[in-house]
Amino acid sequence: MQKGRIHNFNAGPAVLPEPVLRRAQEAVFNVDESGMGILEHSHRGKLFERVNAQAEEEARRLANIPDGYRVLFLQGGASLQFAMVPMNILSANATADYLVTGQWAEKAMKEAKKFGKVHVAATGEATNFSKLPAPEDIHYSASPAYVHVTTNNTIFGTQWAELPETPPGVPVVADTSSDMFSRPIDVARYGIIYAGAQKNLGPSGVVMVIIRDDLVERAPTSLATMLQYRTHAKEKSLYNTPPTFGIWLVGEVLKWVRELGGLTAMAERNAEKAKLVYDYLDQSEVFRGTADPSSRSQMNICFRGPTEDFEARFVAEAERRGFTGLKGHRSVGGMRASIYNACPRESVVALVDFMKDFERTNPAAT
Ligand code: PMP
Repeated sequence: MQKGRIHNFNAGPAVLPEPVLRRAQEAVFNVDESGMGILEHSHRGKLFERVNAQAEEEARRLANIPDGYRVLFLQGGASLQFAMVPMNILSANATADYLVTGQWAEKAMKEAKKFGKVHVAATGEATNFSKLPAPEDIHYSASPAYVHVTTNNTIFGTQWAELPETPPGVPVVADTSSDMFSRPIDVARYGIIYAGAQKNLGPSGVVMVIIRDDLVERAPTSLATMLQYRTHAKEKSLYNTPPTFGIWLVGEVLKWVRELGGLTAMAERNAEKAKLVYDYLDQSEVFRGTADPSSRSQMNICFRGPTEDFEARFVAEAERRGFTGLKGHRSVGGMRASIYNACPRESVVALVDFMKDFERTNPAAT
């Protein structure tokens, strides 16, 4: 880590790779010796055309995205995808199945209800979303239009180790906002994959959507043009002015991932980082992880202290010592360390050392 930077555990927007930030500094002023910064280039110019194509190419290479899929860079956050998915592929009389494994999954499900019927195939509500549903607790409807799954639950710190079984032939729609490209992904198992960029892929303001060709054309043509996948697929994400700088940055982050060895290498790095924290939590006498060990996320590690007062002191002391973003989501409290791809191992080691130190000086009884 370079001098002057602190340990950033924000859930998103989150830490970005330092080499990419340095390249961004240069590119903002004069990109590729074009005499203009990336923010100043026309989205219709040759340079941006290349940037757009390269970002897509990096994504395709990293995840071996098959030919029958389109890669789109859209706006409106993952939250707009909660609505765009049903607007495009759910008709009023059809049913979509949702695996409700956290607050984001629930929001996605509620949005779908505005456009068609929804069946909750499983919910983690009974365990306050600390555990993902077991196979026997998942009950799909007779013929769903699609099954929606949230691969990593950012707020509760749970993550599907593997995609659950889904009915054959039914498109799987995945919100991968908080674990996109953190591990290998078999794109062919999905109909639509979407992710807000601001955790593993780049800055906020860009959403990556990977969509199978047959789902691109499903929207009723009466739907607002900007909300139809076909509009963006036809125009290669250039129907209107796209978030040009964001797409440039996503391309650079994906290149960084490739240079580090791609998704398999990322998965190994991420597993090792997460293990450092979980191993400590499992033997700590003051901190405890909140997710069931069977469902633990390698991206967002949620943990609690013995009292809220202890937690507040921990977070405040952490800030003083140069660790930011450790406060849990406002709806659940406690602490959360988000350790996405770009979070250096060095930060994770420093965090565990700090926690050990805090435990030693603040035993449970105090
Ligand atoms: N899904 C998940 C899993 C998320 O973590 C988030 C944001 N933290 C969202 C959706 C919403 O994303 P956005 O803010 O880009 O709309």
